[in-house]
Amino acid sequence: MTKSDVLVVGGGNAGFAAALAAAERGRKVVLLEKAQEASSGGNSFYTAGATRISHDGLQELIEFVEPDERHAASEVPAYTPAEYLADLSKVSEGRNDPGLSAVLVNESNPTLRWLQGMGLKYRLMYERQAYRTEDGGYLFWGGLHVGNVGGGKGLMADHRAAAQRMGVEVIYDCAATGLIQEDGRVRGVRYRTSTGEGELRAESVILASGGFEASPELRRRHLGEGWQNAKVRGTPGNTGEMILAALDAGAARGGDWSTCHSVAWDAWHPENESNLELTNQLTRGGYPLGIVVNSEGKRFVDEGADYRNYTYAKYGRDILAQAGSAAFQIFDSSSRPMLRAEEYDMPGVSVVTASTLAEPGPEGRHQSPGAGGNSAGLQCFDH
Ligand SMILES: Cc1cc2nc3c(=O)[nH]c(=O)nc-3n(C[C@H](O)[C@H](O)[C@H](O)COP(=O)(O)OP(=O)(O)OC[C@H]3O[C@@H](n4cnc5c(N)ncnc54)[C@H](O)[C@@H]3O)c2cc1C
Repeated sequence: MTKSDVLVVGGGNAGFAAALAAAERGRKVVLLEKAQEASSGGNSFYTAGATRISHDGLQELIEFVEPDERHAASEVPAYTPAEYLADLSKVSEGRNDPGLSAVLVNESNPTLRWLQGMGLKYRLMYERQAYRTEDGGYLFWGGLHVGNVGGGKGLMADHRAAAQRMGVEVIYDCAATGLIQEDGRVRGVRYRTSTGEGELRAESVILASGGFEASPELRRRHLGEGWQNAKVRGTPGNTGEMILAALDAGAARGGDWSTCHSVAWDAWHPENESNLELTNQLTRGGYPLGIVVNSEGKRFVDEGADYRNYTYAKYGRDILAQAGSAAFQIFDSSSRPMLRAEEYDMPGVSVVTASTLAEPGPEGRHQSPGAGGNSAGLQCFDH
């Protein structure tokens, strides 16, 4: 393996962005990724590529998003830094770190433009974040307007290509297992591959190896009892060992480890964990258009509390707390056509259709999804 100036651990959006930034400054960069190349990309691969940035509206965005013939018929309201900050404060109930929030709000736009300059491709997210208007146009909503071409899969393909252009060496199937420390400084990492173990040294080590969401034990320890059973919708590789190694080396602990991003997810799809093909299509985010009930038929969240963008990432916790850690989304024939086809017309979607509320659905579709799971079943009543 090559000796490097900068060693990056983790090959998701953060790791590749850090690698590109270092390579742009003329540094020799090696990036280590635990997964095999075919299953690499971390959680970043599973995303829709939706990227929240502040901006001045369509005229500014078309400077760096890919051309689209729909732009002329589109209205994209500006999303100011003040609105971004207010949204962060709203969804975190005022507990967001002011310093980190300022970095995110103020740097999101220039960072995205920089990534675009490195070869990443962006677009307006018509299918997720825009309504059709009566005159045939498109009206964007919710502040989240820009995404990667090709979603998370496109994001990571673009990153890999950019890294190659910039001379970053990417080593797959290589898990960092610990930090090498000498004279009070981190000097490198120990690693394990499927064929052996070794050490790599560098002037700087950047840890971008994700969170601990794929470790049942760390989930239980930090999020609470029951969370060990939650389903992992993204990569199985983020098991937190390098966070623990950094803490052992004296790193400061930041953020709130007792909360997390958890969403409604198809409870009965046979491959509903770390599904590299369907990725985020297993999300069930249409609940503001219907009602959500538990297995006793009782509602337990305010489905219409806000736009989906501001509630979907916290309602997983409420679903996990229900009996069987599952819930049912119920739609009627007027709301069903408004659900996003990408989520609700996908192959294998769990759905039961009945003509009245009283009519039982077909046998066998209501079995428990197994112990735990931040999951939602879907029932659709047609009447
Ligand atoms: C289904 C889904 C949809 C999402 N949608 C969106 C969205 O649309 N927009 C958005 O902004 N966010 C979204 N998110 C959140 C987003 O995925 C993360 O915030 C983001 O990807 C984090 O990037 P990262 O580079 O820090 O981590 P990751 O992309 O997870 O990358 C971490 C990498 O580190 C590797 N790794 C871990 N341990 C080691 C080790 N010891 N040695 C070497 N490598 C290691 C992992 O294998 C992984 O490849 C979504 C998440 C999921 C799961």
